[in-house]
Amino acid sequence: MPLDFPASRSGNGPEISVCVPVYNEEDNVALLHQKIVASLEPTGRTFEMVLVDDGSRDRSVERLAEIAASDPRLVVVRFQRNFGQTAAMMAGIDHARGRYVVTMDGDLQNDPVDIPMMLDKLDEGYDLVVGYRINRQDKFLSRKLPSRIANWLIGKVTGIPIRDNGCSLKVYRADVIKRVPLYSDMHRFIPAMSTQMGARVAEVGVRHHARRFGVSKYGLSRVFKVLLDLISIKTLQIFTRRPLARFSGAAALSSAAALFAMVTMRGGDLVVETAVVGLLVALAVFLLFLGLITGAMFQQRDP
Ligand code: UDP
Ligand code: MG
Repeated sequence: MPLDFPASRSGNGPEISVCVPVYNEEDNVALLHQKIVASLEPTGRTFEMVLVDDGSRDRSVERLAEIAASDPRLVVVRFQRNFGQTAAMMAGIDHARGRYVVTMDGDLQNDPVDIPMMLDKLDEGYDLVVGYRINRQDKFLSRKLPSRIANWLIGKVTGIPIRDNGCSLKVYRADVIKRVPLYSDMHRFIPAMSTQMGARVAEVGVRHHARRFGVSKYGLSRVFKVLLDLISIKTLQIFTRRPLARFSGAAALSSAAALFAMVTMRGGDLVVETAVVGLLVALAVFLLFLGLITGAMFQQRDP
């Protein structure tokens, strides 16, 4: 069956892997395939397309199967149910065999025409080339305005200003992107997370089109997800380096507070004193353990 993974995903891969999450995009996939081929074939570079079906309920899978039957460069990965854009993107990146990875949306809002220019930029010595949508073709109030605020906020919180975190069209060195851990809706934070890991990032202006077929999969609720993810990213940023030192500092403060409480509350209500001191000591112990666990976790992840 053409939808199964090819027997072997090892061996010499192509130069470029274009990874695309697809969720109910039945009228877009054939055109997308055509446009990627038309954009990359003239460059003479070898490429594959890894299209990840994120549990579509329309005929996307059938359409993909038809294309894959006539083009061996198309690899189709299928999810049993809808896991979300980030998970689908990550599955694509995991299956990519190319030295370079391209990510983009599957609804033709990004334009494959921009890929060669972005690859050339990467060749100038970058690890990651991020697109920013020039003349973005989305609604102002529900899309562009929240996105502008989010970009400003992400820049402030992470200390890494990126013009357009929400633009999926990006080109990476495979060995760099394969090391960035992605979960929740965190594909929006890839530039910030990779910069933190030492990646050299360039930004280039890219085309953007209005959606012609199908509908957007997101509503305004994504704003809250982005905010929660931002908190997670900041927490990671703070604790990835020397977590034990940071947590034990907080634990020492809590112990000092416990000592202070013991001295000042002497002679008062014994029940209250025991409760306050007990809580502070428990907090100190908890923080120390948290430091140890986080320390072990990050040490394990570092090669
Ligand atoms: N997508 C996905 N899983 C989802 C939601 C979206 O794979 O749960 C894909 C979707 O098919 C498209 C891309 O992610 O290729 C961007 O989605 P969409 O166009 O709905 O986002 P918008 O452009 O409205 O921000
Ligand atoms: Mg879209």
